[in-house]
Amino acid sequence: MTATDLAAEPDDRALDVLRRVFGYESFRGEQRAIVEQVIDGGDALVLMPTGGGKSLCYQVPSLVRGGVGVVISPLIALMQDQVNALRASGVRAGFLNSTQDAEQRRETEAAFLAGELDILYLAPERLRLDSTVNLLGRGEVALFAIDEAHCVSQWGHDFRPDYLTLSELHERWPSVPRIALTATATEATHAEITERLNLREARHFVASFDRPNIQYRIVAKKDPKKQLLELLRTEHVGDAGIVYCLSRSSTEKVAQFLRDNGIEAVPYHAGLDADVRARHQARFLREDGLVVVATIAFGMGIDKPDVRFVAHLDLPKSVEGYYQETGRAGRDGLPSTAWLAYGLQDVVQQRKMIDNSEGDAAHRRKLGAQLDAMLALCETVECRRVQLLAHFGQQGAPCGNCDTCLNPPQSWDGTVPAQKLLSTVYRLRNERNQKFGTGQIVDILLGKTTPKVEQNRHDTLTVFGVGTELREIEWRGVVRQLLAQGLLTVEGDHGTLTLTESSGEVLGQRRTVSLRQEPARVTNKPAKAKR
Ligand code: ADP
Ligand code: ZN
Repeated sequence: MTATDLAAEPDDRALDVLRRVFGYESFRGEQRAIVEQVIDGGDALVLMPTGGGKSLCYQVPSLVRGGVGVVISPLIALMQDQVNALRASGVRAGFLNSTQDAEQRRETEAAFLAGELDILYLAPERLRLDSTVNLLGRGEVALFAIDEAHCVSQWGHDFRPDYLTLSELHERWPSVPRIALTATATEATHAEITERLNLREARHFVASFDRPNIQYRIVAKKDPKKQLLELLRTEHVGDAGIVYCLSRSSTEKVAQFLRDNGIEAVPYHAGLDADVRARHQARFLREDGLVVVATIAFGMGIDKPDVRFVAHLDLPKSVEGYYQETGRAGRDGLPSTAWLAYGLQDVVQQRKMIDNSEGDAAHRRKLGAQLDAMLALCETVECRRVQLLAHFGQQGAPCGNCDTCLNPPQSWDGTVPAQKLLSTVYRLRNERNQKFGTGQIVDILLGKTTPKVEQNRHDTLTVFGVGTELREIEWRGVVRQLLAQGLLTVEGDHGTLTLTESSGEVLGQRRTVSLRQEPARVTNKPAKAKR
């Protein structure tokens, strides 16, 4: 008997279901081990990147084990689609959420109790209702799958309070296996999920987070709409993609701008009517080559395999968010682009948002640390992918498929310019009622006699005109990188530059500063998909 014959033995019910119901030949990566763990009644925590194939990890055991697989998911808008897709494969699936009327809910509940369901999708808030808990108690539950498990993380970007109550499932149904799944995988999130969902005894499956077919590129923001247009015109003609912006109004403006330039684009944000959002999402899934310009509200759980690019016109708030959003590109394994334009203003704006955010000092520190990690990724002279994977506690070698690998930036000794800049900031620290942002500092360094310089008599400072060796745009790059290295920080509504504890080390000649030289122009060599 050969290995293949063995694998096809009739008692291999998991493989049988995979082939017969889902039409796939074999399990991918760790799917097989995960599926077996759950079928055998054990708990599992699965960290797998977007597109890795998490759904089958609970769908197959739901069909193999007796009873109904109960899937808790926050993605209410997608439940109907997921159920339809399963039904098309002959799986008896249903869902319970707030979009249904009482009659539809009653039908689903009756089917559940009659043992006529294989899989039941459930919005997390339904578990707050005694009626739901009673219902589940009267039927037979095969397993609990907790999808998007990072929603339990209070510090994360998708926190759902209802997820905190999911730890109670285990107390109520101690013998029913649980499988929690997420594509967010920093060690902090991993630890938090383990803790809050009580999964210390579970087997943990951590897949590689590398997405080799995605080419990561981060460029300095100049005229972002034009830069985006050039990217689309030169490399992504007729491709479907997602453009992320921070504000609702900019999604509308950018979508309009693209349409004005002959690219089919629609906005998507939480302020649009539900039916408009649904229509735009449906078009994106169905049509070829539509560009959706969205706030982060768009994309979670969307399974469109041929998204060829994800562009960010504003700096994401964290590396986790960036990784998740860029991960929506290239699920089909073909070459795709993750492109981000970021500038000084992004840093100023985000610091301001953090300063004004709700929550205590610890929360703000956490947000600050997330921003710092994102800035470090932007300003690295190393391979972006290595840096990204390191963030998730994984190792990699320089990839040859990111901008820094394709076009290695030189680093240069920026100690002297850094000293000049920091001492200018130092000189201005005591000016009453006057807060000066980057513009004024750079004008002083360049020796420009603007009205604002004359009015404040900044042309009399010893640092006036000491920085003519760099151009304005280069000085802005220095500011950005000093911010990223924690040698400078911004405060207040006007983006006032201020020194940090470490600034003194540079001013006191105890520390040198290495800076990234922007490549003249990042050219793109097409990437080979390795998959
Ligand atoms: P995730 O939820 O991890 O983002 P999905 O479960 O949506 O990923 O799977 C991503 C894609 O990969 C889907 O189109 C799915 O059909 C496909 N897929 C998953 N597992 C397999 C497999 N074993 N063989 C072939 N295709 C698979
Ligand atoms: Zn690289």
